[in-house]
Amino acid sequence: MLFGGIEGGGTKFVCAVGDEAGQIHQWVRIPTIDPAHTLDAAIAFFKKQEVLRNERLAAIGIGSFGPVDLDPASEHYGYITRTPKEGWAFTDVAGPVQKAFPDVPVGFDTDVNTAALGEQRWGAAQDWDTFIYLTVGTGIGGGGMLAGRMLHGLIHPEMGHVLLPVREDDPLARGVCPFHPNCLEGLACGPAIQARWDAPGETLAPDHPAWDLEAHYLALALVDFMVTLSPQGIILGGSVMHQRQLYPLIRQKVRALLNDYLVHPRLETLEDYIVPPGLGDDAGVRGAIALGQAALAAD
Ligand code: ZN
Repeated sequence: MLFGGIEGGGTKFVCAVGDEAGQIHQWVRIPTIDPAHTLDAAIAFFKKQEVLRNERLAAIGIGSFGPVDLDPASEHYGYITRTPKEGWAFTDVAGPVQKAFPDVPVGFDTDVNTAALGEQRWGAAQDWDTFIYLTVGTGIGGGGMLAGRMLHGLIHPEMGHVLLPVREDDPLARGVCPFHPNCLEGLACGPAIQARWDAPGETLAPDHPAWDLEAHYLALALVDFMVTLSPQGIILGGSVMHQRQLYPLIRQKVRALLNDYLVHPRLETLEDYIVPPGLGDDAGVRGAIALGQAALAAD
């Protein structure tokens, strides 16, 4: 069977077709311009793949940047809602895809829940049913699963916006989130690193003080998530986490902050507890393929 997956991000839409095992056969990267052009290009890619492979898509999964409306009873189900991204507020994302493929089940969820699903299916979370997937990049988003179900609630988690105390030596006057002066995203996303040090993170040396501060903010948030949800593991993905030196720093700080309060053998070193995505940068789009498969199974 052939499945379609869309990883809808604020800077690019990655679309792919793949099989039952989540192996990607072909993919394309579409810049996130205005909704009509971006979604048309995504639909055109899938139509072309159907012709080239002489096979119809069995299902499509869409993991979208948000906030999104996940309530099937809502008139705005499948929409990106109140995003600050220009031109994208209250955009129907799932609708045009469903309209272009009317008989095909279309799954829709947040980008991070979708990546979490991919990780549970084929990546680092295969042994976990309660875990968190956090992406640290242009923004910070968190999703995951609770007892094998993707985290949904009144809306969906917005873990990037937990509020944190600002460290005294932080040179940044205010976090970059327009809504909160001191949330995790505003203090620790890629643009916050850039604003604080006046240079993009990827140009800073591995021993630059940026990374200690970055690990500090992420560790504060992770401890709060650990005591709230009791996850069996935490996956940290996204472009900022390409800085591999962050993982040991974060583990060390999480252990110090926990101060031996939580007792479990898996929390002794945190080596296999705070981990990179098993699917690497493909977690989002392979997760979208998994989301399509789930939509087909539920159909
Ligand atoms: Zn915020």
